[in-house]
Amino acid sequence: MPLTHTVGSITVTALLDGAGPFFQPREEAFPGATDAQWREADRRDPDAVGPDGGWWLPFRAFALRAGDGPVTLVDAGIGPADALATSWAPVPGRLPAELTAAGIDPADVRTVVLTHLHSDHVGWAGPLFGNADHLVQRAELDALELFHPDLPARLLGPLRAAGRLRVLDGETRLTPGVRVLSTPGHTPGHQSVLVEHGEDRLLVTGDLLVHSIQLVDPSLPYAHEEDAPRARASRESTLRTLSPVLLATPHLPTPFTPHPAGGWGGKGEGAVGGSRPPLPG
Ligand SMILES: [Zn+2]
Repeated sequence: MPLTHTVGSITVTALLDGAGPFFQPREEAFPGATDAQWREADRRDPDAVGPDGGWWLPFRAFALRAGDGPVTLVDAGIGPADALATSWAPVPGRLPAELTAAGIDPADVRTVVLTHLHSDHVGWAGPLFGNADHLVQRAELDALELFHPDLPARLLGPLRAAGRLRVLDGETRLTPGVRVLSTPGHTPGHQSVLVEHGEDRLLVTGDLLVHSIQLVDPSLPYAHEEDAPRARASRESTLRTLSPVLLATPHLPTPFTPHPAGGWGGKGEGAVGGSRPPLPG
């Protein structure tokens, strides 16, 4: 049964589409990470270490639903066997079976928020969710040269033709308690989804962070960010502004990760692994 977390009236369900090894040594994926930071990341998330010592990562989508109302899906996974991610991700994914296990009929999905247009986030977008508007930031569509060359013909063109592509400009309120936030840098139009109720906050991050080493030190770049300084600024300011917050992430071993973690003393080699209290705010 997929894991869930509830914020106010909204149930957030983690849907695991697949899992596999990353295609590159992790030290190359996170240049600049120190040995102490790796030790702390591995202590927090031992399941992110694969059998060969490399980075092992899941690929998730998240469903948001109040009662038996319309479903908002955040990201669409790696997709079927012939998906755009086939060259590097462990396709076929199993999102349809995960939806069934979660009691979600794809026909009830009325909104698909694509955090960005990388192939491991758009895999099942389109026909499976024929009743859903697909939400993409304008800045993302303005940078199509960055993405898979088949993306316009395979996904965006058909969505547009069906009237199912909704273009957003920055922060957008979706429903009471659910907002899209602009979190650019990983890609130009990257967006995340905030669910809040009173002091309770859950952020579906997309690839604002992709490994817990970026929670050990949010300033650490990831090699596949289009604009690393901008990604760092988005990550640091979003975490600082929303903290304490529960992070719902596609690629961390655990679908829901509290931030700050207990004992996290801040960034930098000297601060990791200690028993300091969490930072305020
Ligand atoms: Zn990703």
